[in-house]
Amino acid sequence: MKNETIAAIATPRGQAGIGVIRVSGEDSISVVDRVFKSISGARLEETRGYSAHYGHVTHKGENIDEAVCMVYRAPRSYTGENVVEISCHGGLYTTRKVLEAVLENGAVPAAGGEFTKRAFLNNKMSLTEAESVMNIIEANGYQAAKAALASREGALDRKISSIILKLTDIAAHLDAWADYPEDDIAEVDEKTLGIELTGIVKEISHMLKNFEKGRIMREGINTAIVGRPNVGKSTLMNLLAGCEKSIVTKVPGTTRDIVEERVFIGDVVLNLSDTAGIRDTDDDIEKIGVDKTRRRIEESELVLAVFDTSAEFSSQDKQLTDILKGVPTIAVINKSDLEDKFDSTYLKANIDKVIKISAKSEDGIQNLEKAILETTRLSNFDPSQAMIFNRRQKTASQNAHNVLKEAIEALEDEQTLDAVTVLIEEALDFLLELSGKRVSDTVVENVFSQFCVGK
Ligand code: GDP
Repeated sequence: MKNETIAAIATPRGQAGIGVIRVSGEDSISVVDRVFKSISGARLEETRGYSAHYGHVTHKGENIDEAVCMVYRAPRSYTGENVVEISCHGGLYTTRKVLEAVLENGAVPAAGGEFTKRAFLNNKMSLTEAESVMNIIEANGYQAAKAALASREGALDRKISSIILKLTDIAAHLDAWADYPEDDIAEVDEKTLGIELTGIVKEISHMLKNFEKGRIMREGINTAIVGRPNVGKSTLMNLLAGCEKSIVTKVPGTTRDIVEERVFIGDVVLNLSDTAGIRDTDDDIEKIGVDKTRRRIEESELVLAVFDTSAEFSSQDKQLTDILKGVPTIAVINKSDLEDKFDSTYLKANIDKVIKISAKSEDGIQNLEKAILETTRLSNFDPSQAMIFNRRQKTASQNAHNVLKEAIEALEDEQTLDAVTVLIEEALDFLLELSGKRVSDTVVENVFSQFCVGK
């Protein structure tokens, strides 16, 4: 069945220098020909792939905008189909008008991710490569972008393929051995088999461990800044965020609502939230803030606990230190520019990382940044290696991992090789699902439904 020609605005909705309308499908070139008049007079249908043409988009006798059309001919395009990208002036009205013109001349609106879905269905990329396209778009930092690009270029795919190949070899050997015992097939050595399977399990484990790092890199670390009122939480937050988001004031307890901010420390993204101080209080509004603090600590992946060196270590400071047990925390002793009255013995005995800074004079900030990188353990992270990116990939890898572990246990329990073979084949199914080589339509629909329109 012939695919419909789809069209969508591929650039953000808003004012921009250039806006791109993407059209894909067998008829895309003739569809655009109906609305585009090139200066040279040539029809796009007569032009070669990878050529650009300057002219005007007109619709119902109206000149909409000047534009450049880039023509790609199947299969040498992103989707593998004929594609035309119309670059016109960015801006809500113009891009919408051009899209409208194309839609009224034979194209239909593209669904979210439909261009990439077609690329996948036309074997232009694997499922994991298609998924990484989304990660490239969403990447906020160098490491996240680099990791997504490595995956787009097949790092994850190659890794999965190599594991699939090893397992297929093992399964084939086991099958042959079971089916043709009289033939000249090397005997299955259970010890070697166990070692091979353990090696594969380790490789999958490694990918699973990287998933958590990758997630942190992409989504950021949920970080709470806590401490009793007036220790300098808002000042620290403003310093890290580089702008005035929370109100800094000398009256204790003014930061009642949680203020959230995304900040970059090196390559680490922190989702910072500044909360009201930890303090027992009868003030209702203040209490909401305190409860929120406790909840935030529970929900946080990193806590910056702020203390004031110009005051003595108080019962509130002790209370805070106690509720931070077991939570990844950096204790930040602030106001180092003032006279030191703070006894940090209890703090140091309970929290591993204790840093002294002055949020006001910005002294010691490098040490804080270093501590953040160390605590989040991303400093030795290699974004170019194969990495699992999303829940779908994680579930499939985890399933393959678990089944292979069962296979190893079955070997150790001296169960039949048939039983082991069944488990290995089950693991292969999960890995084929991971790579997208054997997935259901529902899974494919699911993957692409998370994409934005135009991609
Ligand atoms: P919060 O209640 O914990 O959010 O504290 P704020 O950030 O509102 O700060 C309370 C007061 O302490 C303000 O007057 C700040 O200017 C001051 N402050 C914050 N950090 C420092 C610092 O490093 N040194 C000095 N001297 N004052 C600071």
